[in-house]
Amino acid sequence: VVHKEVEFHQLVEHSIVTFKQAYGREIEFHKNIESIYVMGSADQLEQIIYILIDNALKYSKEKIVVSLFTYNGEVIFSVQDFGNGISEEEQERIFERFYRVDKARSRETGGTGLGLSIALTIAEEHNGKLTVESTEGEGSTFTLVLPILKKKSQPTE
Ligand code: ATP
Repeated sequence: VVHKEVEFHQLVEHSIVTFKQAYGREIEFHKNIESIYVMGSADQLEQIIYILIDNALKYSKEKIVVSLFTYNGEVIFSVQDFGNGISEEEQERIFERFYRVDKARSRETGGTGLGLSIALTIAEEHNGKLTVESTEGEGSTFTLVLPILKKKSQPTE
């Protein structure tokens, strides 16, 4: 996969618009930066954004909160939901291929259990990290951290 300069903020903003239109759900968006560029594959990075937003909408009923921040030379993209949450034992397994929590309960939402394993692989290929914080009964936050290429549109040498 060819890695190029990617306008990460645009991928995030487009994805939010797409999901709002497709599902008619409330997606709150917070950011501390107008534009942020990373090195990578736009298609793959878009895939991570889609997987995380899709899961948040699929496994919760209320609004979700998407954030895009920069801190210490890194991009921090997070997706928070207020759904059932994920137990600590399950948090260790959800990034495995084909793993789905509580097969009976998940069956009604459908899915293969591949999304998060794909997202983790892509994050690692971009020198990034993908983590989850979750409390059962309160909700989950998935966070993707990536190295920043640059903050504004400016010529690269
Ligand atoms: P697919 O990838 O085909 O959409 P999936 O959603 O089951 O299927 P993953 O995205 O890999 O697969 O997620 C694995 C499991 O982790 C899910 O089956 C679900 O049980 C749990 N999970 C993922 N995201 C959340 C979330 N935001 N809240 C609660 N549980 C979640």
